[in-house]
Amino acid sequence: SELWQNVPLAPPDSIFKLTAAYKADTYAKKVNLGVGAYRDDDNKPWVLPVVKKAEQIILNTPALDHEYLPITGLPEFTTAAANLILGSDSRAISETRVTSVQTISGTGANHLGALFLSRFYPWSGNKEIYLSDPTWANHQAIFKNVGITPVNYPYYDPKTIGLDFDGFLSSLKSAPAGSVFLLHACAHNPTGVDPTREQWSTIADAILEKGHYAFFDCAYQGFASGDLDNDAWAIRFFVDKGVNMLVCQSFAKNAGLYGERVGALHIISTSKEAAERVRSQLSVLQRSEISNPPTYGARIVTLILNDPALFDEWKRDIQTMAGRIINMRKQLFKLLTEELHTPGNWDHIVNQIGMFSFTGITPEQSKILTEKYHIYLTANGRISMCGLNSSTIGYFAESLDKVVR
Ligand code: PLP
Repeated sequence: SELWQNVPLAPPDSIFKLTAAYKADTYAKKVNLGVGAYRDDDNKPWVLPVVKKAEQIILNTPALDHEYLPITGLPEFTTAAANLILGSDSRAISETRVTSVQTISGTGANHLGALFLSRFYPWSGNKEIYLSDPTWANHQAIFKNVGITPVNYPYYDPKTIGLDFDGFLSSLKSAPAGSVFLLHACAHNPTGVDPTREQWSTIADAILEKGHYAFFDCAYQGFASGDLDNDAWAIRFFVDKGVNMLVCQSFAKNAGLYGERVGALHIISTSKEAAERVRSQLSVLQRSEISNPPTYGARIVTLILNDPALFDEWKRDIQTMAGRIINMRKQLFKLLTEELHTPGNWDHIVNQIGMFSFTGITPEQSKILTEKYHIYLTANGRISMCGLNSSTIGYFAESLDKVVR
């Protein structure tokens, strides 16, 4: 008999399926709004000019070899990455309370953070993580893989197409003391809905009061507002407040290094000694999982972060990407409200932030967009702003208008 006969056929990844359907479509005006990577106004992937410069420098440095990196990664990379996300003036850094480990992009940081918690967090009851409803679909799988059960906390309110702040807060208050909450640092995926600074402050208070742990996932620093410091605000605020926390950092979007898998996990402890113990265990876990993280992307990011001229250029490149997305939001809003007079309120298009926007349309309407208008998006009505550009935005706005009337 067949050895694998009891292996069930897994469903294809929904985004992968969407992309395949889009590629197979021969309609000239087809639009892909499922894409989770930046596209320029010609719908092309964009290699950041600063990345090209850093690659030239690497190419012209013959002394570089292909030896293994240390288990916890390139030290110049992890140090600069911690400064970037926690702020170079961070007290946690100057007090050497931060353990930073290079990871396989943001996904690897989430995994290593989850694995570490699974082993070492002082769980009082069930191993559970509170995830926003909805969240990046991979979060569920990542935590389940290490024996942590995902539970939902209210986040998105379909009635306001905004944040269900009361629901979120009551969940923080009613969860058992010492629960672990995953928080999107900025540009929440998939909704594009972020708490305000005032709301973050209330969230931090509730977390401190209950002794909860904050598991920050930050995949979009700089990519959201165009400003690296602004997008790290919540993280730095929580560190200042003394919340027990870790941060998952990705350079996929903000440096356009998707396939190079550059990321880091930062665990903030309350003492230098604790940080050292944490480091020793993270090294053990990393060793058995990947042995040593990859060099190439880390070298690129290290050059950019440690050279003031390259760093300035990177900030301009980030503004180019974030600026185009923000501009698409404004244009879409204008088309719907001023030109087409589409029924309903569309403020959320400009209020939401980052690559993704929850349009608020129903799964049926989303299906019609795909089947009748060749516009590909997930059933939950999420659109990637990166799929919109000068040539697709008019067609998308008109189609959306027709579908909601
Ligand atoms: N976390 C969130 C919320 C994301 O949206 C993503 C990417 O889409 C990631 C983490 C990790 O991406 P990567 O592993 O490519 O850095």
